Amino acid sequence: MKKIFRRAKIVATLGPSSSTPEQIESLARAGMNVARLNMSHGSLEDHAKTIKSIRDVSKIIGRQIGILMDLQGPKIRVAQIDENIPLKNGDMAYIGTKENLAAAGLKSTDIQIPSGYTDLVNDLHPDARVLFDDGNLKAKAVERVKDIYKLKIIQGGALKARKGINLPDCDVAADAFTPEDRKNLMFGLKEGIDFVALSFISTAEDIKKVKVLLHELKMDVPIVAKIERPKAIDNIDAIIDVTDIIMIARGDMGVELGNHLVPAVQKTIIKKCNDKGVPVITATQMLESMIESSTPTRAEASDVANAIWDGTDVVMLSGETASGKYPEEAVKMMDSIIFEAERTPKERPLLRNTDLSSVNASTMVAASLIAEKVEAVRIVSVTQSGNSCLKISRFRPVTRVLGVTNDIRTARKLTLYWGVKPWLITENSNVDGIEKIVINDIKKSLDLKNGDKLVITRGDGRFFSQGQSNTVRVEYIKDSPKVRGGSDTLQSAEFSRGQINLDTFSCATCFNCVSTCPHGIWQQAEDMSAHVVINEEKTDQCSLDMECVNKCPTGAIEIIPNGQ
Ligand code: PGA
Ligand code: MN
Repeated sequence: MKKIFRRAKIVATLGPSSSTPEQIESLARAGMNVARLNMSHGSLEDHAKTIKSIRDVSKIIGRQIGILMDLQGPKIRVAQIDENIPLKNGDMAYIGTKENLAAAGLKSTDIQIPSGYTDLVNDLHPDARVLFDDGNLKAKAVERVKDIYKLKIIQGGALKARKGINLPDCDVAADAFTPEDRKNLMFGLKEGIDFVALSFISTAEDIKKVKVLLHELKMDVPIVAKIERPKAIDNIDAIIDVTDIIMIARGDMGVELGNHLVPAVQKTIIKKCNDKGVPVITATQMLESMIESSTPTRAEASDVANAIWDGTDVVMLSGETASGKYPEEAVKMMDSIIFEAERTPKERPLLRNTDLSSVNASTMVAASLIAEKVEAVRIVSVTQSGNSCLKISRFRPVTRVLGVTNDIRTARKLTLYWGVKPWLITENSNVDGIEKIVINDIKKSLDLKNGDKLVITRGDGRFFSQGQSNTVRVEYIKDSPKVRGGSDTLQSAEFSRGQINLDTFSCATCFNCVSTCPHGIWQQAEDMSAHVVINEEKTDQCSLDMECVNKCPTGAIEIIPNGQ
């Protein structure tokens, strides 16, 4: 059976269950491609330690691990309270800042829900839904009373400190990029994070503001737009146009929209992202029951597989790895589900529907097709920015892609791209030099044999200023001592001055050798089988000038003179 590699990538959220170097290493070995730091929790000091551990682990295991910093955004929360607030269906309650609640002259028996979000009373309107604790508790806005708001409890329960509040019917005034987010982002940039995720965005403008900031700081850090508010879903096309990556944040989306609408929204957004070539992450509750149990439910296994079949580039684990009992098992399980789902791949986008007007995109798609048709072992994409790899990835190549770069930041970016394995080189020579080194390294590490093929592409970027960008070529492995089909496919003839070998498995029947050899040593097989044969009566005439060896495009011929 042909070995299939996992192509979709895994993001795992780090937290109390997964922040020691040992725990991070076990997640990485289990298949984590990108580690997510959730800035809703933990101190900057702790995050700095975690970042250092991730970088250390990456060195130990010899593989790149991306770091995604997920900013909290304007998440509205219940303030810190000492005791849970018991809410019963039909109760009336008041919500506002602690100060405004105190100033409103309420009776001591009135139920009071404090929240630090100062614009809450302005954002609310009568009949708007107010959801607490991921929608487990529900209330309805009744009326504004001074600077606080009166609510009617629809679905009661014990309301705990710091639980989230969602206002799905309101235009939330809070800026998507809060002062706290700015502080965290600055810290992250200093620490060298690879991706930044923006929570609770509503419009393309929310993304652009941070893009401009990053641009001013000359930091090329891709932005992940988290789609979790109904307004962001309404503006999805404009958002996809400006962001680098999309995350379908099904947690808050489910709360604000209703879980019944999430699957259709997921499919629609994935399709739009696939069409535009924007990587998309499907997130939240994918293997939720693994927080407590060592195996997922059948429904969860199906959820991960279906996200893959929908066309997601990346799947994400949250509580499963951050605070669950089985973080390593969750990553392993996700890895296995993806692996199996990818055995029956989704239909590739039709070429006629793919926008290939960019020369680079066209070239990269051509590379994918060539690699598939000639059964290349790998596509080797020499890239500076990672852009070419993204374009190859978009076409969902059957052949695995090595994204070769000498820029560590680009290598880490590739950790999130579907079907692409980052291949960092330390050499700084010109592109020809880099190619030679890389081919040699790959030959060794993949144990390539004569006749194996690599499709080499050069994208755009600083390396490629000498008119060598946008090329595709097929490299045959020729000078490896190994034959591809094993001893069964080796024809060997000894003669007075040496030995001639033919690997019939690799022979392309081009007959270059037949027409090159003036002595008639090479012949077409009588039964017209798919390779040439050695005419042993003529071998003694071989002049050892190696013309046939040089003309053979697949490295199928080897001549070993005596004494060597
Ligand atoms: P969160 O985002 O985990 O930061 O809330 C993901 C989601 O809402 O699904
Ligand atoms: Mn969220």
